[in-house]
Amino acid sequence: MSESSVLFEAHELKKHYPVKGGMFKPEQTVKALDGVSFQLERGQTLAVVGESGCGKSTLARSLTLIESPTSGELRFDGQDILSLGHHGAHELRKRIQIVFQNPYGSLNPRKKVGQLLEEPLIINTNLTKAQRREKARAMMEKVGLRPEFYNRYPHMFSGGQRQRIAIARGLMLEPDIVIADEPVSALDVSVQAQVLNLMMDLQEEMGLSYIFISHDLSVVEHIANQVMVMYLGKVVEHGRKEAIFSHPRHPYTQALLSSTPRLDPDNRVEKIKLEGELPSPLNPPSGCAFHARCRFASDICHKTTPQLKDYDGVRIACHAVDEDRI
Ligand code: SF4
Repeated sequence: MSESSVLFEAHELKKHYPVKGGMFKPEQTVKALDGVSFQLERGQTLAVVGESGCGKSTLARSLTLIESPTSGELRFDGQDILSLGHHGAHELRKRIQIVFQNPYGSLNPRKKVGQLLEEPLIINTNLTKAQRREKARAMMEKVGLRPEFYNRYPHMFSGGQRQRIAIARGLMLEPDIVIADEPVSALDVSVQAQVLNLMMDLQEEMGLSYIFISHDLSVVEHIANQVMVMYLGKVVEHGRKEAIFSHPRHPYTQALLSSTPRLDPDNRVEKIKLEGELPSPLNPPSGCAFHARCRFASDICHKTTPQLKDYDGVRIACHAVDEDRI
C-alpha cells in the first residue's frame, strides 16, 4: 500500500472500560478494543465483520471520536487526530461521518426531512437559509428521494427510504469517510441491495471511503475492498476481499464464511458449526480467545495469544496457520 494513498489509519487502537466489581470484588477492565490497526485508502471500502460483541461497534464509535480511545493512534490524511485540540478535532470530525443501523433511532421523529438534512449545515457552515434548502433538496435527489418530500416527517417513509435519509444527512458536510455501522441490517433483503447499490454509486460520485461494519459477510461481499475479521476486541484476519472469500485461513473466518449463503456454487463450502457463545469480554479465555470454539486448537492455543502476522498480504493471528496446519 503506497504511503500517499492512505487516507485513514489506526495503529494499536484500544478502548478499555473499567467495570465496578461487586462487594469485596476489585474493579475489572473490559477490553472492548484491544490493539486494532488498519490502513484505508481513498475511495476504498474496509469491511469490519464479526459477531455482535466482537468490538466492531466500539471501533465505529472510537473512529468517529464519539468515544475517546484509551490509547493508540488515529491518523487522518497524515494528521494524528487524537493529539489535536478540541477545535482541530472538531474540524476533522466533519470529514468523518457515521451512519447508524437504526434510522428510527437516529432520526428525530419530530423533525421534517428538510430540517434533519439542514441541521449539520446550520451547526457547521455559514450558508444562508436558501442555500441550505437548495443543498438539502439536491442531496435528497442524489439519494433517490423526491425533493417534494422535504416537508415530510421520518415516520411517513419506509425503512429503506429512512436509511436513505440517514445516509443523506451523513453526506451533507461532504465528508471524505463514512463509517456505516450495520447500515442495512434492519432492512428487508430486497431493500438491502438497493441501499448497498446507492452507497456504491455515491462512493464513486463523491470519492468516498467507507468503513462498513457488519455481522453479515454476504452483504460485505458486494461492497468491500478489504475485509477485517474481529473476535473479542482483536483483529484475527485482514486482507483483500478476494483473498478472504476465496481462501479464508483463520478458523473463525472459515466458520463465519461457511454459514454465509454464497451465490457462486464454486465458492460453496462445507458448513462449519460454530460451537458455543462468544466468551464474555469481562473474563476472556487465556491464550487465543477463540480456543474453546476452535477445531484446530492445540496446547499452545490455551496458553499463548497468537500475534497478527503477514502471510502473502493477509494478516492472520493463528498458531495453526503459523505451524502450517491450515
Ligand atoms: Fe484455533 Fe489456535 Fe488458531 Fe486460535 S490460535 S484460531 S485456537 S488454531
